[in-house]
Amino acid sequence: MTIFFRKPIEGVERPQMEADVTIVGGGPAGMACALRLSQLIDKHNRRHPDAPLSKENIYVLEKAREIGQHNLSGAVLDPRSMDELLPSWRDEAPIEAQVEHESFYFLTEKKYYQAPAMPPPMQDHGNCIISINRFMKWLGEKVEQAGITVFTGFAGSELLLDNAGDRVIGVRTDDKGVDKQGQKKSNFEPGYDLKSKVTVLAEGARGSLTKQLVRRFNLDKDCNPQVYGIGVKELWEVPSGRIKKGEVILSLGWPLTTKEYGGSWMYGSRDNLVSLGYVISLDYADPRTDPQRVLQTWKTHPLIAHFLHGGKMIRYGAKTVPYGGWFSIPPVAGNGWMITGDSAGFLNSQRLKGIHLAIKSGMLAAETAFEALVENNFSAAKLHDFKHKVDASWIKDELWEARNFHQGFEHGLLSGLFHSALQQMTGGRGLHEVYPTKAGHTRMKHLDELAADGGDRAAILGKAKGDGKLTFDKLTDLYHSGTKHEEDQPSHLVIADTNICNMRCVTEFGNPCQNFCPANVYEMEESADAPKGKVIHLNPSNCVHCKTCDIMDPYEIITWVPPEGGGGPNYDGM
Ligand code: SF4
Repeated sequence: MTIFFRKPIEGVERPQMEADVTIVGGGPAGMACALRLSQLIDKHNRRHPDAPLSKENIYVLEKAREIGQHNLSGAVLDPRSMDELLPSWRDEAPIEAQVEHESFYFLTEKKYYQAPAMPPPMQDHGNCIISINRFMKWLGEKVEQAGITVFTGFAGSELLLDNAGDRVIGVRTDDKGVDKQGQKKSNFEPGYDLKSKVTVLAEGARGSLTKQLVRRFNLDKDCNPQVYGIGVKELWEVPSGRIKKGEVILSLGWPLTTKEYGGSWMYGSRDNLVSLGYVISLDYADPRTDPQRVLQTWKTHPLIAHFLHGGKMIRYGAKTVPYGGWFSIPPVAGNGWMITGDSAGFLNSQRLKGIHLAIKSGMLAAETAFEALVENNFSAAKLHDFKHKVDASWIKDELWEARNFHQGFEHGLLSGLFHSALQQMTGGRGLHEVYPTKAGHTRMKHLDELAADGGDRAAILGKAKGDGKLTFDKLTDLYHSGTKHEEDQPSHLVIADTNICNMRCVTEFGNPCQNFCPANVYEMEESADAPKGKVIHLNPSNCVHCKTCDIMDPYEIITWVPPEGGGGPNYDGM
């Protein structure tokens, strides 16, 4: 039995492979899981040469053509979990800089106010500025050197269930060589059925298999809905001395209003490289909000423009992050499966950090899988040990302190700062034990409701449309993401009913997909035949795999499924 969103090719015999453990996703959680599992097996085999375990049937599936190509983050790494995974990692890993200088600003349209000190939860002194792309390439090499097979260019496209539909028994990889109409091309190759004793999902935020699993088993019924943010990033080369290596500059405020949640980062790296970007919570009310334009507008602030003047943008990308915190994490283990990293929601939104939590959760999943292999027991009860390990670890300690953080900003910045201060004083509790929340897309307002809202929305809509020097239009930015897909393949953005786009959304929300997509995938084209004068048109080849449309579509009719493996962005150096 399989769960699928797209109609599969009929009558195809699929190669079967037996696996002990299949890890879906070669990001920080997946690679940490693979490496830790290898370490534990090596240790076991030294102690028990008479009963060795094999690594031969442990696989990592990575949809990018090369390890790291689809990984994007700021990124400042809290080194805690890497110190546990590989104590000597600092001697060999690509660390761009050590954080030495930090500053925090509140921006208004023309002015800025510097905080006297960095708020304690956000302090980064001593942490490591990394390129997650370069870091994952290095960590992936470690995994391969340790004897684990990494299949790059293979997406996990469907979960395999047993006949009763209760147990995850593996993953089907994507079919290759299928045309736009869903027919086999001459180069057709069916996907593999990887029959696995344990399947570990490490797909990043809003993983497509994780979404299947959550829906299938109604895993989110007892938790807060997950809420996400989208981070839009550019990498710049700036004139020497403009931003120090190891410098971190954060800001709140303009161009967002006090009704939206978000902020910016700038990280000074080696060779005058600067990572910069803006993260916006995907629970805003105004459907015209355009995260890519917000980033462009933010760069025109006098403080920011001064840093970038004379520099050059060299890379672009976007991804989503789970903001919901502890109360939005669904059950993370069950019959044949575990969920790790951003896929589960292990991210501290107060610190805007998740890489260290992803790595640690991958390690704990590996420890659980290892014990299951030793005991030859892959029952749900055995895999539930993963949850017990998370609860007993510093993951829970850290996320518990921030458990109500994002929900506290539900009514805007000012009340959010109040709740945040209260939570600081009460160990994360604040006014209530559990602050409730709503899924972000349900907060979006109809266009006719906005008029009553008042306020100048010009900044959010984005005044900066692209001068080609400091600010860029979406297509120029997109060019710098290195995105490529096989053109002749079924759309990997599946819209359940385009009549809703063309008939309802066009008047109710003004088709916000055109705005929230940072890669110009969605366009409304003029059409004389269309009752409302416009029809939706998709450019799936532009997609940078951020998953925003799957999250923020107000009618929940867009589903992101993995395109043919190997396609997507190329986040070289990001
Ligand atoms: Fe992101 Fe969806 Fe646009 Fe792809 S189509 S870039 S997943 S918003």
